[in-house]
Amino acid sequence: MNCPNCSNPMRKVRWEIANNFKVGSDFVEYNKVLYHCQEEDIWVSTEIPISIDSNNSSKTKK
Ligand SMILES: [Zn+2]
Repeated sequence: MNCPNCSNPMRKVRWEIANNFKVGSDFVEYNKVLYHCQEEDIWVSTEIPISIDSNNSSKTKK
């Protein structure tokens, strides 16, 4: 993740599993990551569905 303002690489400060608080087939879990730009004190958080995240990592293995 690069900073949206200065484009420098951001520091990964926290990682956790989140979900959308739904039940049954609507339930989705997310990889929630918090990034910080130390230069400018800008914070960015991403919540990517775990299914998409694992697809991406399997692609990069090939
Ligand atoms: Zn920045």
